[in-house]
Amino acid sequence: MTTIKATCPGCGDVELASPQVRLVVCSVSAWSFYAFHCPTCTDEVRRHATDEVVRLLSTGGVTAEPWDVPAEALEERAGATISWDDVLDFTLALEDTDVLAAIAGAVPTTRHLA
Ligand SMILES: [Zn+2]
Repeated sequence: MTTIKATCPGCGDVELASPQVRLVVCSVSAWSFYAFHCPTCTDEVRRHATDEVVRLLSTGGVTAEPWDVPAEALEERAGATISWDDVLDFTLALEDTDVLAAIAGAVPTTRHLA
């Protein structure tokens, strides 16, 4: 089995086996990461996985987990963020759905004669 050498911020260099390393390869390469629990202090260490790191870990026997980011997460957003007041206003508006339903029911509908 391949020995993977990594560095824990608190303990320094550590040696891991491939099952001890989690490799997540994201559709947005800047979000790919690898993680492991340090065998000495048990802290989780998580770092960005560059394309080169992905290649090295994969060839070392680490199974890559694919992560496809939903398109909605990548959308550009404009305008102000919603506030708690906006959420409260929305909640109050939902309480008025009976009024909205009554208005919608009052709209004349077209009837087709057979
Ligand atoms: Zn450590």
